[in-house]
Amino acid sequence: MGNSSKHIRRILIADDVDVLSELMATVLEIDGFETERAHDGEDCLEKVPAFKPDLILLDLMMPKIHGLDVLKQLKSNKKTRHIGVIICSTKTFKTEIEQAYEFGAYEFLSKPFQEQDLLRLVHRYFSSGSNTSKEAKEQIQKAIEGEVYRPQLEVDNGWFRFWGTRASIPISGPRYVRHGGNTTCMEMTYNGDRVIFDAGSGIRDLGLSLLSEGPQTLHIFITHTHWDHIQGFPFFVPAFIPGYHIHLYASPNLDKDIESIFKGQLDRAYFPVQMDDMQAQLTFHNFTEPIQIGDMTVSWEYTVHPSATVGYKIEFGDKSLAFVPDNEFLKGYLGPPHDITMDHELAAINTKLINFLTDADVLIHEAQYPNEEYIDKIGWGHSSLSNACVLIKLAHPKQWIITHHDPMHDDDFLRDKLNLTHQLLRDMGTPVPVEHGYDGMIQHF
Ligand SMILES: [Zn+2]
Ligand SMILES: [Zn+2]
Repeated sequence: MGNSSKHIRRILIADDVDVLSELMATVLEIDGFETERAHDGEDCLEKVPAFKPDLILLDLMMPKIHGLDVLKQLKSNKKTRHIGVIICSTKTFKTEIEQAYEFGAYEFLSKPFQEQDLLRLVHRYFSSGSNTSKEAKEQIQKAIEGEVYRPQLEVDNGWFRFWGTRASIPISGPRYVRHGGNTTCMEMTYNGDRVIFDAGSGIRDLGLSLLSEGPQTLHIFITHTHWDHIQGFPFFVPAFIPGYHIHLYASPNLDKDIESIFKGQLDRAYFPVQMDDMQAQLTFHNFTEPIQIGDMTVSWEYTVHPSATVGYKIEFGDKSLAFVPDNEFLKGYLGPPHDITMDHELAAINTKLINFLTDADVLIHEAQYPNEEYIDKIGWGHSSLSNACVLIKLAHPKQWIITHHDPMHDDDFLRDKLNLTHQLLRDMGTPVPVEHGYDGMIQHF
């Protein structure tokens, strides 16, 4: 409504930063306003009577007289009370903002601001009259908060979670709190389906976590049947509840079939409850061809470990995750990792496994023994740290998570070992991100 031909609005800009006040003046003049600049609080008060501004853009932290004092003086003087004041400041503390409104500022504009924010506000002032806007109160909170970037975790597709990351036997105590002490178990969900890998003592907590969801179909894949991979199953509560259907999968070449091994673990000599007492429906599978669980395809490949042991690969969407907790890569090799390439005979005999793991988005693989320990543990079925690094170099996954931590290795030891792993990978020119898995670790896709 107000046409510029009637009356050119005058705006006094009080800011001690010249570049900024000059910029504001330019923007406002292009938009048809007449401007004047004051370089400090005193200057501002002196220029008001002559320039007769309609609006003052007032900085707070100015020399000589602070902006809030300038505001107070303007608003307590009958002759200047009507002049609108917009505070432009970086000082966006609640105290300053509330005081500014209390003393009669029209609005608070926090620096830095966009040209259009300034123009919008100035136009709003002239079109709405000179009273403190009602929106101002709502603006207080906004100004205090500023433009806060708040990313949200998207958990729609799924995740994998470690419930146990120990080898051999569960442990507890203050030296193991960061990594945890449960033996191996991992859960993965994708698009609403769930697969579980290994049934070490960690599966007990997993079972308890599932109870709130009620009976459902579960798929448990066993890499092999050494104690640390099955010992949690007798404590897996869903197995005792009618309505659950639990599929157990293993490769076909176990010494005995998977069902009799699980039954044997529940023999009266070892345990008070037998498999017949389990109320869930249990179905055992030995499989060779890839298995489809919802949108996940699960396949396996043999690893180097006593008795038939496999590592699993889960393909989902355009991604893949491999779970290989037990594998003695380059069995017996004690030399430097730099020398091993694909055509080295020790690597060549592992071609199938390397190809199986190549380019995985996430490779979960052990590196159980530091090299000085490996010398005494050749043939135990676990990799030396540097040999595991060779596998990473050859299979080049996008991410490596080390699991199956030795029960002798406490948190501090594992911290040092992880730093050594970083160093080794760096030295080998294999900058794959690596970290240690720990009980409770969860990663979303
Ligand atoms: Zn194991
Ligand atoms: Zn084993």
